Amino acid sequence: MKKITIAIDGFSSCGKSTMAKDLAKRIGYVYVDSGAMYRAVTLYAMEHGCFEGEQLDVEKLRTMMKDIHISFQFNPETGKPDTYLNNIKVENRIRSMEVSERVSIVAALDFVRSEMVAQQQVFGKEKGVVMDGRDIGTTVFPDAELKIFLTASPEIRAQRRYDELKAKGQEASFDEILENVKERDYLDQHRDVSPLVKAEDAILLDNSYMTIDQQNEWLMTKYQEVIEN
Ligand code: C5P
Repeated sequence: MKKITIAIDGFSSCGKSTMAKDLAKRIGYVYVDSGAMYRAVTLYAMEHGCFEGEQLDVEKLRTMMKDIHISFQFNPETGKPDTYLNNIKVENRIRSMEVSERVSIVAALDFVRSEMVAQQQVFGKEKGVVMDGRDIGTTVFPDAELKIFLTASPEIRAQRRYDELKAKGQEASFDEILENVKERDYLDQHRDVSPLVKAEDAILLDNSYMTIDQQNEWLMTKYQEVIEN
């Protein structure tokens, strides 16, 4: 069967990774969470003195980029890849509020993006990949055969992230999360390099009132339509 590239972009906490991961598992594709890569760079910057509060020393981070190596290893227990930063598993730490509050600043830097995009293109060069992010259908794989642009209301997205953090036993405040969701939306849409924008040929899905099963079925149908054509 022909292998294609599937790009799933959209706003933060929309359920992109759930959708991408489930489809990849079902059709035997590789799943890549591009947001995890920006989060890992942010964690590195935080742990190596590049931040004072939310103030980033851009030049310091620029000199450190060559020391940052990100990889993924499939975890059979969770059914998704864990993120490794310089060979250390950072999957939980990169999801903290401290990282969420700083990641959009790091992800707006041109030298960070060019490095991450190059790595993402290597992950996808054999096709058979489902990648989620903000610029996958516009910048990373503009020729992807299937592009989805996912959205949901900020309140629903904040509730989903709140539930996710609580389930992991992490401290969370709904209001703080909602504020973070809105702030990241703004920063992601208004940055100079690869802003979050729907690719012209992407299919728009608002999943505010869909269950995970419903959205998975919807995506599977779209995949089959492309494969059968
Ligand atoms: O998807 P997730 O919310 O984990 O992504 C974290 C952050 O990384 C986003 O808020 C965005 O600023 C950035 N990002 C990006 N481009 C991508 C994926 C994520 O700028 N392709």
